[in-house]
Amino acid sequence: MIMNSRKTATLLVLFVIALIFAASPGFAPAQARAASPAMSITVSMERPTTHYYHVVLRVDGLKGESQDFKMPAWTPGYYRIMDYAKNVLDFKAEDGTGRPLAWEKTAKNTWRVRSDKAASIVVSYDVYAFARFCADSYLGDDGGFITPAGLFMHVAGRLKDPVTVTVLPHPDWKQISTGLDPVAGHPGTFSAPDFDTLYDCPILIGNQEILTFEAAGRPHTVAAYDLGAADRAKFTGDLKKIVEAAAALMGELPYRHYTFLIIGPGGGGLEHLNSTAVALNPGSLANPQSYMGWLCFIAHEYFHLFNVKAIRPIALGPFDYERENYTNMLWVSEGLTVYYEFILLNRAGLMTRDEVLERLGSTIANYENAPGRRYQPATASSFDTWTNFFSRGEHSANTTISYYDIGAGLGLLLDLKIREASKGLSSLDDVMRTLYGTFYKEKKRGFTDREFREACERAAGVPLNEIFDAYAATVKEWDYAKYLGFAGLTIETEPGTAPGPWFGAPTQDQNGSPVVSSVEPDSPASLAGLSAQDEIVALDGARVTQRSLAGMINARKPGEKVKVHYARRGTVHEVEVTLGKKTERSFRITALEAPAPGQKALLDAWLK
Ligand SMILES: [Zn+2]
Repeated sequence: MIMNSRKTATLLVLFVIALIFAASPGFAPAQARAASPAMSITVSMERPTTHYYHVVLRVDGLKGESQDFKMPAWTPGYYRIMDYAKNVLDFKAEDGTGRPLAWEKTAKNTWRVRSDKAASIVVSYDVYAFARFCADSYLGDDGGFITPAGLFMHVAGRLKDPVTVTVLPHPDWKQISTGLDPVAGHPGTFSAPDFDTLYDCPILIGNQEILTFEAAGRPHTVAAYDLGAADRAKFTGDLKKIVEAAAALMGELPYRHYTFLIIGPGGGGLEHLNSTAVALNPGSLANPQSYMGWLCFIAHEYFHLFNVKAIRPIALGPFDYERENYTNMLWVSEGLTVYYEFILLNRAGLMTRDEVLERLGSTIANYENAPGRRYQPATASSFDTWTNFFSRGEHSANTTISYYDIGAGLGLLLDLKIREASKGLSSLDDVMRTLYGTFYKEKKRGFTDREFREACERAAGVPLNEIFDAYAATVKEWDYAKYLGFAGLTIETEPGTAPGPWFGAPTQDQNGSPVVSSVEPDSPASLAGLSAQDEIVALDGARVTQRSLAGMINARKPGEKVKVHYARRGTVHEVEVTLGKKTERSFRITALEAPAPGQKALLDAWLK
């Protein structure tokens, strides 16, 4: 939702209409429950170039000797401990009359205020915010982005209380964009029925471009930091098609309004209840290849509103904001969302059947060719995300896989198996709809590992031991031919040779010099004794830079010997590396020329 002087009147009308039609579970506006919320937050940003937000939290109706104020350690969707409390400065507490109250820190993210029986406490603090990233906060001379879990404290034990947030933007900025509901008659003030909702509604502040469109009967807003020369009509037209394809798949939309927050250049995106925050390099909209990548990305973040925000593993909400929330099922939440990127775009008429098969093939190739495929199954990759996915060591590339990639492959196998076993009567779509109806709407909770499996097996009408016990939970090889055969498809699984010579030590730039970031197992670099953190100085006596290294290696042939000078702990060494050939499997998926009628029927029902 956007609040600015020009649009306020329209928005208030929309808001009233939205209240009349409000039927979405778990997202009722605060006004309906409490006339005067006990908690109110004001956030201001007087000097953006200092990168400090100023936050004031007022809490009324308190009882007791002391109150703990807590800052979350992470934000849902980005499964990494961020310790946002480290950005807090100048914490102060007073009672409702302005009398200072004593406080002490009792944990890294906890401020205990001695309330001295005061019914009201006002705490204030600054938060340093200079990371333009969807799971962090930013404030600069070009605007601000707030990840609420990283900016707003809550009172321990009172996450369920309603709260209002008043945003006082820097005077140069006209727009405040967020999924929060605006409070009628108070421009810049928004309400949340509880802190879970607040923490799930990021806020973009600045002079962003605003586009609006209607899809499936709901208002949608695009708030964009910079769209470059993008064709606006095509951009919103394609978003509308994605929304309508998702609404058709699931049967309804669980929100009254939705906002796409394009927060600026960079990478990454994060899903939220009725919004998503995504980075976008405006140039990437210009060429068809990267535009298709953008559509996949935005379809992914959008579909999360069902798969993970509504249809979710039991560990993922209500959240414990102070520590890791473990689940074996991020391959379902993330991987199936990758799978549905392609399915949604195909149904929206934005991706052809051949393009879907090509994307599925390369997603499969990503994890099948990863060295970590030998060690880490999908369930373990999900569970260990907190320590070995978003935060990675130099050995991670060799020992882990991505639950995004392997989960998309498992989604493919599940969908094909359910369609085949049910003789076309059911599909993975039915599993999604059943989970949405049973767990999100009726039981109002997440599902266990067993409940997810049961929903899949009920749709298939047969046990799915191979997929769940072997493929998801162990590193056993998959029988792709069998599953793809259901749809009359074949897959290339024989190892081939990657083009060019193989060195096997990717590097990263350190002041222009290439420094080895990881060494691929059994690669020429590994056999020659090169190690992570070695700085490559010269090849055959010629000085190299990060820019020139790849070209110099590719100019040679597999089997050639190359003399490598490298620096390790301040000393230069020399070693001879025999360049190799890297074997890789392509996993190209193609359709049989003469499929059986049953195969053709399955393929036609599956992909347009
Ligand atoms: Zn995702």
